[in-house]
Amino acid sequence: MSSNKVAIIFTGGTISMKIDPRIHAAIPALTSEEIMAMVTNIEKFAEFEIINFSNLPSPHIGPKLMMELAKLVKKTINRQDITGVIVTHGTDTLEETAYLIDLTVKSEKPIIVVGAMRNSSELGYDGSSNLSAAVCTAISPNARNKGVLVVMNNEVNAASEVTKTNTLSLDTFKSPEFGPLGIVDNDEVIFYRDILKRKHIDTNEIEEKVGLIKCVPGMESDILHFYINSGYKGIVIEALGRGNVPPAMVEGIKRAIDNNIPVVLVSRCPTGRVLDTYGYEGGGKHLKDLGVILGGSLPGQKARIKLMLVLSISKDLNVIRTYFQ
Ligand code: ASP
Repeated sequence: MSSNKVAIIFTGGTISMKIDPRIHAAIPALTSEEIMAMVTNIEKFAEFEIINFSNLPSPHIGPKLMMELAKLVKKTINRQDITGVIVTHGTDTLEETAYLIDLTVKSEKPIIVVGAMRNSSELGYDGSSNLSAAVCTAISPNARNKGVLVVMNNEVNAASEVTKTNTLSLDTFKSPEFGPLGIVDNDEVIFYRDILKRKHIDTNEIEEKVGLIKCVPGMESDILHFYINSGYKGIVIEALGRGNVPPAMVEGIKRAIDNNIPVVLVSRCPTGRVLDTYGYEGGGKHLKDLGVILGGSLPGQKARIKLMLVLSISKDLNVIRTYFQ
C-alpha cells in the first residue's frame, strides 16, 4: 500500500456528465464514486479521500464559488496526511479557477486541476485517463514547488500560463507563449522546464464587480461608462496589439481612473506583453501616462481574476499597480 494520500475535490463539468436520453444533451450525472470506478488500478498509487464540493457545469461556477473552492484546497493541502490535491472541473472556466487557486494558495505540494472534453456517454471518454495522469502528477516529488498544474491529455501546464484553445479537441489546454512544463508518460511525470516567477496574493476575499472589455476598431467609451455607472470596481481592457485603444475610448478610461477605478490593460493578441511603445492618442504610452496599469502578457480573463483578488486587498491604484507591473 502506498504511503501517499491524495484528496480529490469534485466540482462537476464534463468529466462528471453523461447524455440525458430525454434531451439528448450532456448534463452532470455521475457521482464521484462512479467516476473513480472508471479509473483502473489507481489503488496502488495512493489512498484517496473524496470530497464532493459541487456537481456544476463550469459556466455555473462564479468568482465567489471559485474562492470557496480555493479556501477548501488551502485547508486540505495544509493537512499533514495529504500528499497532493486534485480538483476536477469543467473545462470552460477551468483556467480561471486554476489561476485563482494558484494565486491564493501557497504550498510546496502538488495541486492539480483536471477535466474532460468528452462526457462518459461518448466514445473515448477522456475523464479516466486525465484523472489517472492527475494522480501520477499529484504524488510525484517532481511536481512539488510548481504552483497549480493543469493536467489534460498527458500534458502538464502551469495554471498561470494555460488556456483553453479549442472547443472540441482533447488537446485543447495549451500554454501558447512557452509550451507545456512537461508530460505524463508511462505513469511518470517528466518536466522539461520550470516556472521561474510565481505570484502570491494573500487574500481569502474576492471583488466580483470587475468588467472585461475586448477592444475592436471604432470602439467608443459607452461600455466604460456603463461599467462606471453600474458600480464596477475595476476594468480590464483587452487592447489592440502592443496595448493600444481607439481614441474614442480615452475619455471613458480617464473617467474611470478619475473615479479611482483601476483600468488594467492587456492585449487581445494570444501571446506577448503590452508595453508603452506608442505615443499617439490611445497608444500604450498615452494610456500609461493617464494611469492605466499594464497587465503584461496575461489574457483578459486571467488579468480579471488577478484584479478581483488584488481589489480585495487594496483600492489604492499605486498599490494595485505593484501587483501587475
Ligand atoms: N461545459 C462544460 C463545463 O465547463 C465543459 C467541460 O466540462 O469540459 O462544465
